[in-house]
Amino acid sequence: MKGFEYLQRELDEMKEQGTFRKLVPLESEQGSKVVINGKEVIQLSSNNYLGLTSHPRLRQAALSAVEKYGAGTGSVRTIAGTLTMHEELEKKLAEFKHTEAALVFQSGFTTNQGVLSAILTDKDVVISDALNHASIIDGIRLTKAARKVYKHADTKDLERALKESADYRVRLIVTDGVFSMDGNIAPLPEIVELAEKYDALVMVDDAHASGVLGENGRGTVNHFGLDGRVHIQVGTLSKAIGVLGGYVASTRTLIDYLIHKGRPFLFSTSHPPAVTEACIEAINVLIEEPELIEKLWENTRFFKKGLEELGFQTGTSETPITPVIVGDEALSHKFSDRLLEYGVFAQGIAFPTVAKGMARVRTIVTAQHSKEELQEALTIFEKAAKELSIL
Ligand code: PMP
Repeated sequence: MKGFEYLQRELDEMKEQGTFRKLVPLESEQGSKVVINGKEVIQLSSNNYLGLTSHPRLRQAALSAVEKYGAGTGSVRTIAGTLTMHEELEKKLAEFKHTEAALVFQSGFTTNQGVLSAILTDKDVVISDALNHASIIDGIRLTKAARKVYKHADTKDLERALKESADYRVRLIVTDGVFSMDGNIAPLPEIVELAEKYDALVMVDDAHASGVLGENGRGTVNHFGLDGRVHIQVGTLSKAIGVLGGYVASTRTLIDYLIHKGRPFLFSTSHPPAVTEACIEAINVLIEEPELIEKLWENTRFFKKGLEELGFQTGTSETPITPVIVGDEALSHKFSDRLLEYGVFAQGIAFPTVAKGMARVRTIVTAQHSKEELQEALTIFEKAAKELSIL
């Protein structure tokens, strides 16, 4: 069919530059090892921090939910698609995050979009970290609010932006809690102090911090002892929680407002029973099996130290996300391909996901990895990097 030649030209250019990527289908369930092209390889690319995607308690919760309630819900939440289990999950999430209320969206992506687009108007300003996630950027694009971007994790620059925006009704500072491509943690205590000084609101996207940082994985707000001082906490149910979805934890007022104005919440069908029951069980697991988070951090320290000792550039990471920065885009994809050939799945990440010249192979260890698997991965990283003159 004719019509998409202009898109094909762009794809052809990507092929010439070595940045065209094919999807990599897994032939097994998610885990510390996965099967790709018929071969078992060590998985270092998933967000399955605690291995909950295949935890027996989540599996059972999902199976029982299907048996009792079927496969889907048949409606959006505001019409006929709210089951008691949806409200049970939200109550659990609010308790977990130490907030008055919580609301679940279809994904973390739609949560950011839904919250930002609902609560800001042309009377307001949003002040956003330069490296915030795409879903925050898209959420901001959906508002008529004025926009200011501060230099990544730079609180001096944030203060400049706050000083420049005294005339707006609401000043909303928004930041990732843990930055997904670098693994560093936002300077939340300083951000909250500035917000209090300038009477601004704070929104934190803890997609990569929930289940990872804070008591039982409550996230960065709890990690820094800031419970009750951050206005909006966004989380995802798709990473450490191991299932699918996103949520916002905040005051009853904000949640009631979003029930009326959060467009993805209003206009998209609610989660199937299996998803919701598995998420409820995941929160129970976080509370009852804290050893999973301990193992995640033990593995993180081991693997990070190993990469650093080999001489890799790992940037500013402080969490289980450790980038191996290569710089050149094509080389970073080549490195990733070579790793896969030798038995490690670690994706190359290039522009526009990260800045030009900062291409990398991103690694995420999980609680499921054994020391032997991580040691083997380090040996393979060294071999592939030496062959490609990265080390
Ligand atoms: N925020 C951040 C910081 C993320 O890394 C992601 C996932 N890439 C999301 C939001 C979106 O979450 P989800 O996958 O649940 O849509």
